[in-house]
Amino acid sequence: MENILFLAHSEADGTLSTAALEALGAAVELKQALNGTLAVALYGAQIQSAADSISACGAQRFLAVCGEEFATARHATDAAACEALVRASGATIIIAAASSRNSRVMGALAHRVRGCVDTHVTDVTASSGAPVVTRWFYRQRIEGSLTRTQRPWILLLDPGVCSAWQGTPGSITPELIDVPISDSLRRTSVRGTVTPPADQQTIRPDAKLLFVAGAGWTKKQKDGQTHVPEAEAIILDFLRNSKASLGGSKSLVDLSGENQSTLRFMSHLNQVGQTGATPRHPKGLSACCHGEEPHTVGWRFIGERRAINLDPNCGWARGKADVLYVADAFEVMSKVNALLAAM
Ligand SMILES: Cc1cc2nc3c(=O)[nH]c(=O)nc-3n(C[C@H](O)[C@H](O)[C@H](O)COP(=O)(O)OP(=O)(O)OC[C@H]3O[C@@H](n4cnc5c(N)ncnc54)[C@H](O)[C@@H]3O)c2cc1C
Repeated sequence: MENILFLAHSEADGTLSTAALEALGAAVELKQALNGTLAVALYGAQIQSAADSISACGAQRFLAVCGEEFATARHATDAAACEALVRASGATIIIAAASSRNSRVMGALAHRVRGCVDTHVTDVTASSGAPVVTRWFYRQRIEGSLTRTQRPWILLLDPGVCSAWQGTPGSITPELIDVPISDSLRRTSVRGTVTPPADQQTIRPDAKLLFVAGAGWTKKQKDGQTHVPEAEAIILDFLRNSKASLGGSKSLVDLSGENQSTLRFMSHLNQVGQTGATPRHPKGLSACCHGEEPHTVGWRFIGERRAINLDPNCGWARGKADVLYVADAFEVMSKVNALLAAM
């Protein structure tokens, strides 16, 4: 019988993230499909409200490692907490959200408990009484299903692929697991977090809209001149007003590496496509990007796709977008900004 463990860290406010609730949803479904057991393991500075919020999930056990030492992501203490929780639970399958905090320690956890780990998991099901995992290979071009006999088997579930667990909050007293913290575990201390101001933070995974800028913003326009500072102002203005997340084509993000005149806030982290990211947003709007296959393959999880391009024969016109506006993006986006500012 499989002993399934939902493993999660609490957020700074003591709650669980949406991605963690999605991992719990997957764990609950797998428990039912395999007729196994389910346990919950939480770690963080405060775990009580997180535990209460999922008390009705049907878990037989609630375990927790709790304390200020586990307030922020630190490899040594997080790995020690996760190891203690997994050992105490006797889990054979561990399901956790692929948060950056979890992702950093799951390799070490697998090594310590002599288990194995799979990342970028997009589905967990059961077939012939055995768990089956679906994940991407080769930069999300091939989807494969696999199963393993090695246990414990740790699964890091990508956010946005499963339904979040929902239930009425209750009250639960988790079993507290003691993790001795030696000085060697404290060698790294987290002194604070530096984040860019909201208007400089251009990658916003929770945004309703993805705005993708292509290399056209930096190319010569109808007057024979480039208008890069104007492009920067239009794009930043739009991001400020719409709170959209910013993506870029490879050609555009590569320009900055080549020291060409380009958009200063654009980096390789913004790149969408085959060799970039595959973001998930309900809507997407592309401007000055040609819509070639290696780029649009990164749009596969975008719900509604629109593009602005001067070229009526661009890639977007060939079935890649739901709506193509054949227009000058400088003009269209300036008008959109004026409308947004007036709202
Ligand atoms: C192995 C491999 C992997 C790759 N991976 C990726 C990837 O991950 N992501 C990616 O993006 N690309 C990737 N590429 C590159 C991809 O094939 C294209 O070269 C790239 O996407 C082109 O970028 P672009 O459309 O911004 O630029 P361009 O092809 O230069 O297109 C610019 C567009 O802007 C339009 N334009 C110009 N001015 C205006 C205006 N005023 N208003 C409206 N439209 C205007 C033009 O009509 C043109 O269509 C990959 C290629 C290979 C071979």
